[in-house]
Amino acid sequence: MEFSTLVTALLVLVPAWLLGKRALRSWAMRTFTTVPDLHRAGTPRKAGRVAGTAVVCGGSIGGLFAARLCADHFERVVVVEPEGWTFTPEARAPPVDNIAEVVKDDATYKTIKHKRTRVYQYTSIHGYQAFLLDTLRHLFADFEEVAHAFGALIAPADPYALLNGKYLWPTAWAQYGGTGLPSTIQCTRRTLEPMLRKLVSTSRPEIEYVQGTVTDYIVGDDGAIRAVVLRDADGASKEIESALVIDCTGVAQVGLKLLSRALPPNTLPSNIREQYNPQMNYSTFDFPAIPGFNDSLRAMNILRPDGGEITDWEKFSAFFVYHPDPTVEHRSLAFMRKENGGVVLLAGGWASEMPVTVDELREFVSKLKNLDRVPKHVFPLLDIFKEYEHTATVSESRCNSCSRLHYARAAKILPRNFIALGDSHMRMNPRFGEGTTKAALSALTLDGVLRDLSPQDPSFGATFFKRLDSRTGQVWDGAKYADYGHVTTTPAPGESLTDGKFPRWFNGKLYATLETSPAVSSALWHVGQFIAPPLDLFAPAVLWAVLRETVWPSS
Ligand SMILES: Cc1cc2nc3c(=O)[nH]c(=O)nc-3n(C[C@H](O)[C@H](O)[C@H](O)COP(=O)(O)OP(=O)(O)OC[C@H]3O[C@@H](n4cnc5c(N)ncnc54)[C@H](O)[C@@H]3O)c2cc1C
Repeated sequence: MEFSTLVTALLVLVPAWLLGKRALRSWAMRTFTTVPDLHRAGTPRKAGRVAGTAVVCGGSIGGLFAARLCADHFERVVVVEPEGWTFTPEARAPPVDNIAEVVKDDATYKTIKHKRTRVYQYTSIHGYQAFLLDTLRHLFADFEEVAHAFGALIAPADPYALLNGKYLWPTAWAQYGGTGLPSTIQCTRRTLEPMLRKLVSTSRPEIEYVQGTVTDYIVGDDGAIRAVVLRDADGASKEIESALVIDCTGVAQVGLKLLSRALPPNTLPSNIREQYNPQMNYSTFDFPAIPGFNDSLRAMNILRPDGGEITDWEKFSAFFVYHPDPTVEHRSLAFMRKENGGVVLLAGGWASEMPVTVDELREFVSKLKNLDRVPKHVFPLLDIFKEYEHTATVSESRCNSCSRLHYARAAKILPRNFIALGDSHMRMNPRFGEGTTKAALSALTLDGVLRDLSPQDPSFGATFFKRLDSRTGQVWDGAKYADYGHVTTTPAPGESLTDGKFPRWFNGKLYATLETSPAVSSALWHVGQFIAPPLDLFAPAVLWAVLRETVWPSS
């Protein structure tokens, strides 16, 4: 080949390759993440507001995000929520804990009594990803101020995490120059929900809140939902005319029940609901600020997994996260921070025992299979927790059902103006700690669809569910197939625990290479924070690491 031909070929091919790579990245971000939607959100709707009312059924995390975003699109937004307490000033303020004593077998512990009776997980440990913080910051101008007033910690999303015995974050840590890592928010659920309620109510005072239980949808002649029927606090039935109906009723998943009543009999496909049981049990230990806690951490001279010394303990959101390979261990642990300098711990797992005292917790930790990989600081931390046990509360959580509603399978039958998001669309194993970020990204997906289509458009609902599936489907599969690695899981009807063998094998290889492949740990960290598409887990450098691990396995 002549030199000039080679130069011409390179001049054409290199830019084409670069452009192609850029186009692929942009497509992957648009399709599998909600990052581009977040950039568009919060701005006025170009086509002017949609006439009519967006009716948000359920006023919790998903409903509050949906209401905030719909306020940019609709003339009127109404949130229908049955729980009377959510309408009180207390439900928009930092929590004040009422403590009660529980006697269990031969152990006694203190627990928190609260008024949020319809949210089972109100006192369970919650962890969040960087994308949730990005969303809160983008949507609420006063977020930093309000978060500060609620005592929430904003810190690098740095879980000091061991995935099957290998450290996750050194690469991301180095990439961002240490504490320059993208941040996340750390606070309990009973702080996050009132904080979000406060943010939404002050930023969009025009949103209306109605106390009531949604009991029916009325479908009009055009096949769309004409009105939502609710039973109010006095037991009276009321109708709200609806331009869009958003089911945010959480685990109750009321939308599917009401659709099956509102639509002609037997029109909905029977395979909409997919459900399995991971038998997930765990305890949350919740400590208010422990005096001198950060000084004690410093005195332990804990090294970072990459060998560096940790000096800025205040900026660490987690001290220890132990996420097991299902073939090795069913127990899981997490030691994290919460608001106002407190600490929360998770101990439990798949069909696991649930420790409720620090002595039981110590026994639980000592049973971990790869104990030699548990960092040395964990046992001295347990000593501190023992000393302050009298200040802690404990709550026990069980999750016996994970469910995904495949509304896209009914796209041709569903009313065009019905959508569902948050747990009412997909309730995942809480151990993966992704439900809140998923609720936020689902509401942002709705915002994106509203910027492209009118809810009058016949394809509105179908477009929403299609986009939502491409952003949440892999999250569901990832958690489900990891759960199928535990023999105690009851699989979904028609499936078996051998399903997902390849993703489990691939994941095992990824975990094994975490400490030797910067490409793998960076991809897992960014995908896990919902700021990069899962496609990154198939990048050439990642596949090369997996191949290397397959041919020359590490220990
Ligand atoms: C034990 C446990 C631990 C968890 N840990 C984490 C974690 O670490 N990180 C994380 O991100 N997520 C976690 N999650 C998941 C997270 O809590 C949920 O994903 C999140 O609450 C979903 O919000 P939502 O608004 O969809 O539903 P919910 O918060 O369940 O709210 C549903 C709302 O609908 C209302 N409602 C019910 N029926 C009706 C009706 N008929 N009409 C009108 N309103 C109705 C309810 O009163 C409630 O306000 C955990 C979940 C569990 C169970």
